[in-house]
Amino acid sequence: MKRIAFYGGSFDPPHNGHLTIARKLSKLFALDEFVFIPAFHAPHKKNKKPTSAFHRFAMLSLAIENEGKFRVSSVELDAPDKPFTFETQTKLKNDLPDAEIFFVIGADSWAEIDTWREWEKVLTQTNVIVVTRPDYEISFSHVTEEIKKRIINLKDNQELKSKIQNLKSKIQKIYITDAVNLDVSATEIRRKIRAKEDDWRELVPNEVAKYIEKYELYI
Ligand code: ATP
Repeated sequence: MKRIAFYGGSFDPPHNGHLTIARKLSKLFALDEFVFIPAFHAPHKKNKKPTSAFHRFAMLSLAIENEGKFRVSSVELDAPDKPFTFETQTKLKNDLPDAEIFFVIGADSWAEIDTWREWEKVLTQTNVIVVTRPDYEISFSHVTEEIKKRIINLKDNQELKSKIQNLKSKIQKIYITDAVNLDVSATEIRRKIRAKEDDWRELVPNEVAKYIEKYELYI
């Protein structure tokens, strides 16, 4: 059975945090494929105007070109209406009935997950991996008892970490991992570019930095 992770977001721009997450999770969960899904714009980030989807797709493609198991999917950009995460998940599940699917989100998304459309579905119809992020506490007070039962906290369980690749369960799980805890955000990168703080280049892959400069994004 193929093990595939899907990682949705604005990727405005894609940064080293995103890529480190993909690399570390690919190893930890013995993934066969890691798929980035740029959103048209995240439905829950209504006030933010993102960079054109074409630019974000292009930057992601450049960011992963040397990573054999990484892909970029246009599934949300191709959708006739801007889909919510639960709709994309349903489509992927139907398209890939034999795959073991993992949906990846960061700690900031976890903190506000109960504001997402059909959030309980999002957390139960596929496996979910929640990645810790500096300055974001992982709290469980906002989720239901039913959801809590599915949580496997890898942060506190070293032994489980080594077994994770062989865990088999019919019930979709929610894994919490601190395998990556990097303080990089797209907001900060955009701020640095606007402020002409040159060290933003260290926070994105080289090819992405060149692309941002060539097309004069975020200035
Ligand atoms: P922005 O600052 O514009 O909100 P971002 O850096 O959070 O952007 P997104 O494209 O929104 O990047 O991220 C997509 C997904 O990746 C989200 O689930 C987010 O929580 C997660 N994520 C992004 N950066 C990190 C990080 N450094 N550590 C853990 N998760 C992250």
